[in-house]
Amino acid sequence: MGKVIAIDGPSGAGKGTIAKLLADKLGFSYLDTGALYRAIAFALREKGIQSEDSDDKILNALRGITVTFKDGRVFLKEDSEATPPIPPLSRGGERGGGRDISEKIRTTEIGHYSSVFSARKVIRDFLLNIQQEAALQSDIVAEGRDMTTVVFPNAWRKIYLDASLSERARRRYLQLKDKGLDITESDARTDVVERDKRDSSRDISPLRKADDAILIDSTAMTVAEVLENILYLIKAGK
Ligand code: C5P
Repeated sequence: MGKVIAIDGPSGAGKGTIAKLLADKLGFSYLDTGALYRAIAFALREKGIQSEDSDDKILNALRGITVTFKDGRVFLKEDSEATPPIPPLSRGGERGGGRDISEKIRTTEIGHYSSVFSARKVIRDFLLNIQQEAALQSDIVAEGRDMTTVVFPNAWRKIYLDASLSERARRRYLQLKDKGLDITESDARTDVVERDKRDSSRDISPLRKADDAILIDSTAMTVAEVLENILYLIKAGK
């Protein structure tokens, strides 16, 4: 297993931006696990699966689905196209491929459904191996909600990245606006509040700070400052 830098935190804390920059800086691969949850939600919605459907029905729908995260993009393969589990960071596309759904999963609707579906054990179990396999292929920076607590409890470095609700709502608003989505700042805040609540209160793998994770509050920090801080901690062996 390679080195894992595990980063958790709530929506809009800046995990994606920081994890990507950190991975580039250190020559690690970047794993966006939220993208995997979003891809699954997207695929299940396309198949007409509802969040309250039975485990059997969801499991059956998942059987034909393969999600791949490669070079920052998300691919979905379904049914007859599907091959045995493909590592999420597969290189070269020889076993990867499928439909590029990177933009389609970034809507508030899919954000909502990914958060709803992610509370289901059957879905978390399905993605657990896929995420852990990523660390067998290379050193990774993995970000999500349960990297430090469940998926990589023995990670080389553990960080919990947080920011105030107002700041996270503001960042989420700017991010979605930048992607051309028609959204108000108040919509972004409602979205962040709802997802925070669902992610922190679910029974399985709720979002929480691991005891041995280092807390960084990025509210008043620039991206460069957060990055510098984390690089310092990593060098210091924390
Ligand atoms: O990080 P992002 O907002 O893209 O994640 C989408 C949703 O997927 C989150 O709101 C959360 O409910 C879920 N998720 C999760 N566990 C992870 C990553 C994401 O439950 N490790």
